[in-house]
This record gives sequence, C-alpha cells and structure tokens, in this order.
Amino acid sequence: DTAAQSQPFQAEVAELLNLMVHSVYSETDIFLRELISNASDALDKLRYESIAKPELMADGGEPKIRIVPKKEPDTLSVIDNGLGMDRQELIDNLGTIAKSGTKSFLTKLTEAKDGAGLIGQFGVGFYAAFMVADRIVVTSRRAGSAEAWTWSSSGGAGFEIAPASEEDAARVVRGTEIVLHMKKDAAKYLEPYEIERVVGAYSDNIQFPIELVPEDGEPRQINSASALWQRSKSELTPEDYAQAYKQIAGAFDEPAMTLHYRAEGRYSYAVLLFAPSTKPFDLFEPARKGHVKLYVRRVFITNDADLLPSYLRFIRGVIDSEDLPLNLSREMLQNNPQLAQIRKAVTGKVIGELESLGDKDPEAFGRIWDAFGLVIKEGIWEDYERREKLLALSRFTTTKGENRTLKQYVEDLKENQTEIYYLVGDSIERLKSNPKLESAAARGIEVLLLTDPVDAFWTSAPLDFQGKPLKSLSQGDVDFGMIPTTEETKDEPEKPETDEALTIAAIKDALGDKVSDVRASQRLTASASCLVAGGLGPDRALERMLAQQNR
Ligand code: ADP
Ligand code: MG
Repeated sequence: DTAAQSQPFQAEVAELLNLMVHSVYSETDIFLRELISNASDALDKLRYESIAKPELMADGGEPKIRIVPKKEPDTLSVIDNGLGMDRQELIDNLGTIAKSGTKSFLTKLTEAKDGAGLIGQFGVGFYAAFMVADRIVVTSRRAGSAEAWTWSSSGGAGFEIAPASEEDAARVVRGTEIVLHMKKDAAKYLEPYEIERVVGAYSDNIQFPIELVPEDGEPRQINSASALWQRSKSELTPEDYAQAYKQIAGAFDEPAMTLHYRAEGRYSYAVLLFAPSTKPFDLFEPARKGHVKLYVRRVFITNDADLLPSYLRFIRGVIDSEDLPLNLSREMLQNNPQLAQIRKAVTGKVIGELESLGDKDPEAFGRIWDAFGLVIKEGIWEDYERREKLLALSRFTTTKGENRTLKQYVEDLKENQTEIYYLVGDSIERLKSNPKLESAAARGIEVLLLTDPVDAFWTSAPLDFQGKPLKSLSQGDVDFGMIPTTEETKDEPEKPETDEALTIAAIKDALGDKVSDVRASQRLTASASCLVAGGLGPDRALERMLAQQNR
C-alpha cells in the first residue's frame, strides 16, 4: 500500500483539537516544549535500542535536535535523528490518544473555566502544535528502515498518510522531521530570539544538544544539554530545579518538594525527585504506575521500573545508576537485587523528606497532602514495615480541628487514655452528629473523623501508633470507663441514685466465684460495668492502668 490514504482521528483527538483551536489555552509557548520533549524521548529510545543493535546508529549522525525557522512560506521545523516511526506508528501515535481517562478529562475541560490549569495536568503533547500551526507535515523514518513515511493534517477531522517523496526521504535519513505551517498570529516563533527564549525557559535541561539553524547564519547550540541531576546542589537555584521539574515531569505547576542527592557506597546513583503541588488527572488510574525514570550512566532505560512503591506514584523525577548494566531486560528489572536495594533506600529517603517538610514548611507539605494524601494512605495498608512512619505523615480531621497529626493526638491524650479513637463515615457532618461521639466529647477525648474511601481499608488492619492501638468507636466495645468526664474532674462525683448494696449483692449472686469482687465505680458514665484485673492478676498493662487510676 503505497498510495496516500486519509484516516479519521479518534473521536477524542478531534475533540481535543477543536478545543485547542478555539483555544481555551493561551500559553502557546508550550508547543515547542512538547515537540522538543518528544524529540528527546525518541533520541533516548534510539540510544537504548542501539545498545543491543549498534547498527541502528550507523547512519544519521550524532544525536541532536534541530530547530529551523523559515519565512515565505512561514514554516518552523523541529527535527530529530532519534528512533523515528514507521507507518503504523505514525497512525497510532499521531491519530489517537492512548492515555486512559481522556474522555472524562475532555468533559471536565469543556465545562471548566480554568482550561489552562487542566490542560497542564493532562499534557496535550504533540497536538499542542495545532495551537500555532494550521497545517503540520511529519516525515519519519524508523532507524534502520528502508522506508520513510509522511503524515500530514490540517487539524479538523483527520490526517493523510503516504510514502515520503524521494526528496523528503533523502533528507530524513533517520528520525523525524516535523514541519509546522505557522498561523499568521504565531509568526513570532520564527524569530531566532523568540525560539531561544522559549527553549531557555522550558527545555534547557534536555540532555541532547538543541541547535537553532537560522536562515542567515551559522547553526548554534541554544541549550546547556547537561543532566541536571549530575550537577552539584550548590550550583543550582530553585529556578533551575523548577525548570527541570517541568521538563522531566511534563508538568506546569511548581514542585512542592525537591529531593536531590547522590548515594555513594556499595551502589552509586544520583537521585532527583519532585512532589508536584497539584493533582494530575490520572492519579487513580488502575495501573497505578510510577513516574520515576531510570537512567544508567546518563542513558535513559525505562519509565516503569517501579522504583518507588505505588503509594508514592505521584513522585516524579530521575534515578541515574552508575553500576547497573546498560542492557537491562524487563526480567532483570523485576528481579535485580541492586534495584530492590535502591528502591528501598530511596523510598525511605522520600518518606523522611516528606516528614521533615511537614515540620519545616507545613504550607508546602499541606499542598502535597491535599493533593496526594489519599494515595499516601494506601501505603498504611500496603507497606506494613513503614506503616508507623506513614501514620506519622498523615493529617487528620478530628473533633479538635483539621490537619491534626497523630503525634499531636498522643501529646493531648486524656488522663488514663491508652487508645486512639476514630470513626469512619461518608462525611464530616454526618460523623459529627453520630451519638457515639457524645460520651467521647463528655470526656474531652479527641476522635479522628475518617471520610476518605481509603480509610475503610487501612483501618481494617490492627494498627498502633507510638504503642497506642487505634480503635474504632463503632466496632466492638469501647469503654472510656477510666477516663474521667470533664464534669467529674471539675466537680464532686454525683451520688449514685440506685441502691448500691442491693445491686452488688445481686451481681455477686449471679457470678459466684467467677469474680473475686464486685465494686461500685464512680468513674463510669456511658457503660453500666467493666471488668478489671485483680491485684494479683496477670494483666500488667491493665494493672498499670489501675495503678494510675488509684493515684
Ligand atoms: P506523549 O509524548 O505523552 O506520549 P505526545 O502526544 O507528545 O504524547 O506524542 C505521542 C506519541 O507520538 C509519542 O508517545 C511517540 O510515540 C510519538 N512521537 C511523537 N513525536 C515523535 C518523534 N519526534 N519521534 C518519534 N516518535 C514521536
Ligand atoms: Mg510528548
């Protein structure tokens, strides 16, 4: 099949293009960032595939990205000599959106006022180019292939795919050339200084050289092309990190936390990780995939090496190992003890960093917790070893207020209180009217009000925090008996109205020698009775409690 063929876009693509054209989005600059990022991905993929097949690198020169503006006609080309695409890949990659959740995202986008923010979360990728171009022609040759193909579209309903002309095929020896026929109002992107500005702002950290090829004059490199995570912390500014975050994560927000360090020792690796400050649209997609990229000695290996547990899947960034072999297969990724070691160490670091951020910068931590707390709480259930640390990170709405930590809860325990109490329900309002709160309130006991769906999960396992078991007010018997009510602490205890002696005699009768004694208590308000261990009984924890009570 060598003839030109027309194909319709997937419905979601057509809808997205329609939105892009009638732009809800005014930040047109990002089209260049998206195209450069795709070019860089293609160069990464080529470098990885050529480890096993060095011949793929034979023709086509040193890896680089070129940007070529031309006037009359107004075109801007973004050219890479990366892996390229064959015919089917052009059709699949530039005609559909593979991301799950696209449909619901588009609905939200159409309804939202702030389309820009949402687009940032979604990342429109290649299609962003239709904001500045009314026609796009892509010619691509997969590395090592005898064929080159041309994809072209004016947006709208579909695209054409055809074998590249002889002239185009001769020019594209390896990789992809994207020619944008610029809209009139986007002509500024043909000015070299404008291109330099945008590349400087969004793509400076791309690892491959980006060359600007002006119409009159010599080509020149316009990015620093270094792997930022390999540089030392002291020479980097917060702006450098923010830019690296945006470029590595394809994000538009600012990072709420940055973790940059180098591990030396048995294994050496550089770590540059970020926590976003806003929630991406696909946080809850079933795959629960992470977004940490694995590099080996500056060579990109894979996006999905599961370098962090899935409850930290919101963390973005790079881990670059010095010791792993370059030709890591998928099986090796799964069973590699060194990777397991790195995963363990980095997970601990991330949790530690979140913890200290919570102390040092509660506001930044709050943004992370608001966006990703639901996800972090999955870890209390999944990561038995670290559950206490994750509980310590967690923020709760309680009867005392919002954003309470368990540490604060434990510091505020009432006299004789040995458990941490909670209630699970659908809404704070409903929980607050739960009668079970009354007797807790009478004693000034704080109760965690848990309303996230994930709360039902992690509370189903027995848990404790600093030796204090977590206990549901709605399951089993809860006895505040030994915790005095607020009234009791203030006033003289009330005289019981019933005839004590009679009641005690009746109970002693019924229980016989199952108990050593029956006594009236002035401590209980909610419960009719409670069992206590005798002076010589084995339950030392209970004894300690009794000792405190009798003080
Ligand atoms: P994303 O980069 O998030 O996958 P894009 O819309 O930016 O989404 O790109 C869609 C796909 O098109 C890419 O995943 C890639 O497979 C392919 N692609 C785009 N540009 C290039 C390129 N320059 N070289 C090779 N493949 C490309
Ligand atoms: Mg992309």
